Amino acid sequence: MTLADRYARVNASLPPRVKLIAVSKTRTVAEIQALYDLGHRAFGENYPQELRDKQPLLPADIEWHFIGHLQTNKVKYIAPFVHLVHAVDSERLLDELEKRAAAAGRTIGFLWQAHVARETTKHGLLPDELRATIQRTAGSDRWPHLQARGLMGMSTNTDDHGQVEREFAALEALFLELRGSGHADAARFTELSMGMSSDAQLAIAHGSTMVRIGTALFGERP
Ligand SMILES: *Cc1c(COP(=O)(O)O)cnc(C)c1O
Repeated sequence: MTLADRYARVNASLPPRVKLIAVSKTRTVAEIQALYDLGHRAFGENYPQELRDKQPLLPADIEWHFIGHLQTNKVKYIAPFVHLVHAVDSERLLDELEKRAAAAGRTIGFLWQAHVARETTKHGLLPDELRATIQRTAGSDRWPHLQARGLMGMSTNTDDHGQVEREFAALEALFLELRGSGHADAARFTELSMGMSSDAQLAIAHGSTMVRIGTALFGERP
């Protein structure tokens, strides 16, 4: 199957309300350009230096999503152009993003990463930490160049369908609770980023608004 075939197949599987983030970590500039030439604009990367190196080699109207764990000392590499940071899990990271966004004269959107998966290695805030963090941060004037746009989450990497479904259901419930809780950022708190190649349909069934898909578009990663 060609890239065009896979792109068509992925697009056909997504309802119009769901945005496709093409995950291009480890992919070459030529592979990304090929998907761009098919009309795609939203790409997701996991590694700051890799994104910093690729971005200037590709069209300026690409919307870059940073979907990996972001260390504060790497924020500077992506702040001048990143569109949405999907995996924020600390106020310390917000402070650094704010500093770099202000320096670049930009406003940067971000998602809080929620941790509901069973794996202990996954990053993100537990539901109670997230509730408390949003209480503290929503509407604060400490981060004028940042906008909280919603939640991001990942399911446990398992063949147990039921467990993945319970985790997506938990993320959906948390998202709806936080969006509906009337905090100061609620009007912009509209995005739920969940679902990858293997579990996108389950995520969509649980209200995902953004799926992050790599393998189903580009094939297995090298
Ligand atoms: C790599 C990655 C994806 C894409 O995974 P595929 O299985 O290739 O679709 C999605 N989200 C995150 C956070 C990733 O690191």
